[in-house]
Amino acid sequence: MKNTRGVVLFSGGLDSLLAAKVLQEQGIDLIGFHCILPFFPPDINTEELTATRQAKQIGLKLHHYFCKADYIGILKDPPHGYGSHMNPCIDCKIFFIKKAAEFMESIGADFVATGEVVGQRPMSQQKNTMRHIEKESGLEGKLLRPLSAKLLSPTIPELEGKVDRTKLLSISGRGRKQQMELAAKYNITDYSSPAGGCLFTDKFFASRLRDLLDFKSDIDQIDIYLLSIGRHYRISNKVKVIISKNELEGIELSKYRDRADLFIEADFKGPVIFVSGEVDDHKELPIILKIMSRYGKPDKLNKKVYIKKNNSVIKEIEAFEPIEDFALSVMRI
Ligand code: SF4
Repeated sequence: MKNTRGVVLFSGGLDSLLAAKVLQEQGIDLIGFHCILPFFPPDINTEELTATRQAKQIGLKLHHYFCKADYIGILKDPPHGYGSHMNPCIDCKIFFIKKAAEFMESIGADFVATGEVVGQRPMSQQKNTMRHIEKESGLEGKLLRPLSAKLLSPTIPELEGKVDRTKLLSISGRGRKQQMELAAKYNITDYSSPAGGCLFTDKFFASRLRDLLDFKSDIDQIDIYLLSIGRHYRISNKVKVIISKNELEGIELSKYRDRADLFIEADFKGPVIFVSGEVDDHKELPIILKIMSRYGKPDKLNKKVYIKKNNSVIKEIEAFEPIEDFALSVMRI
């Protein structure tokens, strides 16, 4: 299959690694298409991604695609709904495949492959859903599932002889035995667990995302990324704060301080506080300062708190008494 070119949707999970390997074994010129979800740092070095390392073990080159505004549109209101948390799996799959299809066209490839297995996932990998995803993504006849291909209708590249159907597989169901055996055969040892890295399936992240969607309409990738950092408290309908948990998170939040309505630091050992929303000096500000003292350690000598806006100190205040844990816990997102 020397003249065949394909794109494989690559997550770093075992199924996508095996799908890629099965096609590589036919001599197909294959490139991985890896979608980077918006909760990853916007300035991430793609060479340091786990998926990049995992692709290297099978000699697969990756093209990285950052999911931004159009993905966020889906996240806000997925036509096929959410899974158990805030994971819009069916629409997410359709989105990934559509983007992979655009990439396929741009490099003149013949098909897009995925690591989907018939019957493996209750939501997105039932046969009829898989057909629906193929139709919705506009890739009818060119969406290949090498691990289950023999259980599905032949695709155009198979009919045209660009992919050898006899060398494709017929795996189905939720069991992982066949995949584990194949992994051993191909010496694949480094892979992610299914949906393991997706924060939309995490219930704590999901409640932060729900809160963000409820209180902010014009959200972007950085808003979503910031959900993964620090402790989050909703002080009122107007005001939310993010408190860094350690020095590294403080540095990370500082990178985005220009987006904060207020950015609060102290002259004692403690967190930084990223504030979103219009803060009333008598209502929300005292609560925020009490939170600062709860996580910081003001002492007799050092107890000043600096309220900053646009990188300038607009107020300097004595530290407050720490907030009670019970009062704090009801505000936690
Ligand atoms: S688990 Fe996450 S990445 Fe995977 S399909 Fe669902 S939403 Fe998309």
